[in-house]
Amino acid sequence: MLNLPDTEASYWKSFYDLPLYPSSRVDLKLEVAIVGGGIAGLTAAYLLKKSGLKVAVLEKNTIGSGTTGGTTGKVTAQHGLIYQDLQKRLGEQTARIYGEANLTAVERIAQVIKDENIQCDWQRDDNYVYTVDPKKVNKFQKEAATAMRLGLPATFEANLNLPFEVAGAVKFANQAKFNAQKYVLGLAKAVHGQGSYVFENSNVISFHDGQPAAVRTKQSKITAKNIIVATKMPASPLVARFACAIMEYPTTSYIVAARFKGDLNGMYISPDKDHYSILPVTSGKEKLLLIGGENHIPGISSPTKHYQRLADYAEKHFGFSSVDYRWKAMDYLAYDDVPLIGKVYPWSRHLYTATAFHKWGLSTSMVAGIILHDMIVGQPNPWASVFNSMRLKPIVSIPYGISKLIK
Ligand SMILES: Cc1cc2nc3c(=O)[nH]c(=O)nc-3n(C[C@H](O)[C@H](O)[C@H](O)COP(=O)(O)OP(=O)(O)OC[C@H]3O[C@@H](n4cnc5c(N)ncnc54)[C@H](O)[C@@H]3O)c2cc1C
Repeated sequence: MLNLPDTEASYWKSFYDLPLYPSSRVDLKLEVAIVGGGIAGLTAAYLLKKSGLKVAVLEKNTIGSGTTGGTTGKVTAQHGLIYQDLQKRLGEQTARIYGEANLTAVERIAQVIKDENIQCDWQRDDNYVYTVDPKKVNKFQKEAATAMRLGLPATFEANLNLPFEVAGAVKFANQAKFNAQKYVLGLAKAVHGQGSYVFENSNVISFHDGQPAAVRTKQSKITAKNIIVATKMPASPLVARFACAIMEYPTTSYIVAARFKGDLNGMYISPDKDHYSILPVTSGKEKLLLIGGENHIPGISSPTKHYQRLADYAEKHFGFSSVDYRWKAMDYLAYDDVPLIGKVYPWSRHLYTATAFHKWGLSTSMVAGIILHDMIVGQPNPWASVFNSMRLKPIVSIPYGISKLIK
């Protein structure tokens, strides 16, 4: 049994521990205030600033200190085995738009990285969802066929380069991985300046949904035409918290990582019991392997046993002789599995949100950024209705969500 590091610390956060930006201390008036300096808030801020709007991002800790700094790093439109299921439950059009939006998002992120010259270890790679269970092969073949029909770069693969036998996999070609912490620092750098701001250590304690709208920290008031609450589940206003609480639920997931000498390409995940997310990462001369999973509702079990299971798996299949990093993070899922992007509650005038990224927020934060940008500048968006945060599908899907949770 491998020893675990004494403290929980994300590998990605080792790339950033100092606040780089000031805290919000003076009152300001601008076009959009964005609460939350994770990938969702900074992506929306970046796109809005590019359209000429003056924006301010308010982050209560430091940039990327939330789930973004505790992510794995796969940027892909393949979110598990989702397409067959979406098509069956929510219809072909929803499945098609979900795929199209996320595939577009992967390319748009690549473009932003190029335009802003963000050094974030962006690397193209194929993504695989695999099974070791021969009884599931038929389901995987159908998923590949459905995704292909929806225009996605999917194929069924019988053989993978993993150190254990696999019964089959769905491959999405030419997806990507990156250091999300470095990416959001690059976005922050592009946002701050020319009348737009990034603030750290700036906890927003109240929201006013009027005309103009406003947010307050202890030391400042930011008045804006529109506000985006990009804090995952909004903590306030209370009505927004309630609106989101009936649509989404949280899960905690764990990651262990160690320096790795093996030669592994590809990004992997499996819905099988006792199989996990696998991601080889290269940063300069350093090579790491990340193993992640063991999802559960927060607060119902002891983290140690989940870390230990991941470490045992890493030792058994990848020859880990130590664990260099271990960390956990939390993300929200909508009961119908589709993120919530749009107004924070039905009668809201100027408050928007982007949440319930289903543990796939690296691509869907770009989907959210594009939709929120279009809503705020007043231009139509072909994906908005599928992701609309005010749709009723998550509420009627609560029994479906709960049945998945207790499986
Ligand atoms: C273990 C794990 C692995 C994952 N792996 C992947 C992956 O490989 N690929 C993928 O696509 N997705 C992955 N995800 C999901 C993805 O990381 C998240 O969906 C995404 O990072 C969420 O970004 P966010 O900006 O919405 O939230 P966050 O990054 O949590 O940002 C929200 C920010 O809001 C701030 N905040 C909160 N309240 C306030 C306030 N009152 N005032 C000011 N600021 C406030 C917080 O401090 C935080 O920094 C993973 C998730 C987990 C848990």
